Amino acid sequence: MRPRILAVANQKGGVGKTTTTISLAATLAAYERPTLIVDIDPQSNSTSGLGVTVGSEQATTYQLLTGEATAVAAVVPTEFPHLAMIPATPDLAGAEIELVGMVGREFRLRDALQPLEGFRFVLVDCPPSLGLLTLNALAAADALLIPIQCEYFALEGVSELMRTVDEVRRFLNPGLAIDGVLLTMYDERTNLARQVAQEVRSVFGDLVFETVVPRNVRLAEAPSFGQPIQAYDLRSRGAEAYLLLGREYLERMEVA
Ligand code: ADP
Ligand code: MG
Repeated sequence: MRPRILAVANQKGGVGKTTTTISLAATLAAYERPTLIVDIDPQSNSTSGLGVTVGSEQATTYQLLTGEATAVAAVVPTEFPHLAMIPATPDLAGAEIELVGMVGREFRLRDALQPLEGFRFVLVDCPPSLGLLTLNALAAADALLIPIQCEYFALEGVSELMRTVDEVRRFLNPGLAIDGVLLTMYDERTNLARQVAQEVRSVFGDLVFETVVPRNVRLAEAPSFGQPIQAYDLRSRGAEAYLLLGREYLERMEVA
């Protein structure tokens, strides 16, 4: 079966893309769906957040995009069952520049992932920009997952993201869907968070997941231990939220 490829994207930084990529992927893996994380952000936070160290022999997303390595060669297992990743290093920033002069520059990731087998889901952790790396993710993806932080200016940049999605549909990937919009870092004590959540729901309607991820310090701590939240603190509210999100997502995808 072909995997469902999800681009976790929002060009705003710090909205919870990496946290959502790792935590949702770990949940899907816990539900025994073989899941692959592709780190396409030069900051490589999902690589370090999963405790993956990249040796000099290890192929990364960089070599995938330049065609120097196959996806099969670049996949590394993680300590967690059913969860693997294609890691990134800061070198990837150079690929964004090199890609500009390459043939089929937007389709490098799509073509590289094509032969990959054995995964049910692939989650691509995007950088905080709408440059060629994100375009590669959107061209390769079946769908987007858009995390939105429940803070001031939450929707800032979302209309630009949606314009990019329209262009990607016209020129690169007509079938690109949106699998969900996720409210993150929700602080139930503030009116602001409630207002933002309402506003996002009025814009995106049913696309917004019912599950809302609360602000939870355990989610912020987990990456420095190289662990998904489920391994770091399974009883935390953050872990609970991402378990619910995984279940909601699987219901959307598999029971429909
Ligand atoms: P992005 O990948 O969009 O830049 P991150 O997932 O790295 O965003 O999140 C930005 C920061 O906020 C990180 O330090 C992360 O640990 C923290 N964070 C993310 N989600 C939560 C949350 N629900 N509660 C508390 N801190 C969070
Ligand atoms: Mg990130």
